[in-house]
Amino acid sequence: MSDANLDIENLRELYRELILDHARNPRNFERMADATHSAEGINPLCGDKLKLYFRINAANIIDDAKFEGSGCAISTASASMLTEFVHGMDMNTALQYFELLQQRLTAPDSPVEHAPLDLGKLRAFEGVREYPSRIKCATLAWHALRSAVQCDDHPASTE
Ligand code: ZN
Repeated sequence: MSDANLDIENLRELYRELILDHARNPRNFERMADATHSAEGINPLCGDKLKLYFRINAANIIDDAKFEGSGCAISTASASMLTEFVHGMDMNTALQYFELLQQRLTAPDSPVEHAPLDLGKLRAFEGVREYPSRIKCATLAWHALRSAVQCDDHPASTE
């Protein structure tokens, strides 16, 4: 095995650990009483049901993000990481990250539209590309984020 392959193996292990850690100990896992935006996300295929809460200030900055509900390890880890990732982020930038993540998971060979953005830790979810049925688990919280900021009253469904 070449060094490059070894690095990729190490990275995969690191990402696996990251996802398991967030799934076992979800961050920001509580209801938010003073949310300005919220939305439910439902993934009927897996049975994931999450509710995302956001407090967005007048400058469109996401001051705080929390979630509750129940889901599989991947959907829970994704929601947990989302709440940390978008904290302090401009709302529109957060939506661009959703598009980028979606693209990286579903059409990784297409040209990158948001080149300046870096997925960072969210790259951990690129591993689910190999399991198409889990892509919806990985993006569920992000679908809910989009519904929340667009003030869509209908639950975000992956279907
Ligand atoms: Zn799931």
